[in-house]
Amino acid sequence: MKTYVAFEANENNIHEILLFFNSSITKEGKLLNYKPFIFAGITKVKHLTYEVIPGFLKFIAIHEILSEKDADLKYDDVCKFYRNVLVSLPPEWVHFINENINPVSKNYEINADCFSFSVEDKEVPMPQSTRTFYNLLIQLVGKSPVSESYWIEKYPELELSKCCIFSNLYILPGECRELIFQVLHRTLFTKVKLLKCNMSDNDTCSVCAQSREDLEHMFINCVNLSQFTDFLKDFLLNFMCNVDDNFVNTLDFDQAMLMGFLKRSNGFNFYFANFIMSIARFSIYKRKNFILLNPQAKLNLVDYFKTLLEKYISHYFYLLNQRKEHFLLENILYWTIPLSK
Ligand SMILES: [Zn+2]
Repeated sequence: MKTYVAFEANENNIHEILLFFNSSITKEGKLLNYKPFIFAGITKVKHLTYEVIPGFLKFIAIHEILSEKDADLKYDDVCKFYRNVLVSLPPEWVHFINENINPVSKNYEINADCFSFSVEDKEVPMPQSTRTFYNLLIQLVGKSPVSESYWIEKYPELELSKCCIFSNLYILPGECRELIFQVLHRTLFTKVKLLKCNMSDNDTCSVCAQSREDLEHMFINCVNLSQFTDFLKDFLLNFMCNVDDNFVNTLDFDQAMLMGFLKRSNGFNFYFANFIMSIARFSIYKRKNFILLNPQAKLNLVDYFKTLLEKYISHYFYLLNQRKEHFLLENILYWTIPLSK
């Protein structure tokens, strides 16, 4: 990243610059690190300078400071390293220090104004630089998740990064966020995965006992989901009466069941629709675990979903109201009317 960032040393910050592990101060391309200096508190340029006259401290003074921490330190060793530090400092800094008194009384800090950031030779203004910086960092060092190639083969237009926008949305309950993360990264322990790990002797779905339980089966294809899926589709379509039919027809419900809705349109409350899908996904998952623990138990998924949704809506209604984020609330009452029917 350092090729993109420039640091401007000036009279306000030069004495505050750190000596060690600093890419501006290198000896034969290597960063400096000398523990006796660090233990003795000599870590910044100002620690090497006089306080009342311009210039750097003498070798003997540095040795004296270091000896207070370690009496066995050899004078020659100290001189050797101090010399290395001095020749590693950029010549213009050395010149500045030899001409100016260390402003001990002024408490300067190195702040963001000392740094400039440019991409393709264009300077990025400071208010925008954090976002640009992180985007660049992600491009340079980020690696795509292993699951990406799997999902792209299934949904060629999918951009996993878009899923992260709402999968990390704070209005989602923590357990829903965790679940969608596991689905997106295909780390959820389905029966197929448990069998692979020798943690189960079969990969049959414990809800329907008819098919292999992979992610798609668990959330989309299980025959025991059909009543719930029909209910959920009706439930969502109820809220989309003001949304353009052409848009509604392009929505992939199965894909949304796994990773949420990814498209937006006027009148379509993107965040709230994904909020509902997250609760639906979580209800399916919890119901499955419930059956695993109590194979004889009966749990109506539609009722369970409604209960959870009402619980989370009342919680987040309060939260959003407090944060004055009404754009997420605009249809909330309208959305919840069919729930009470
Ligand atoms: Zn099943």
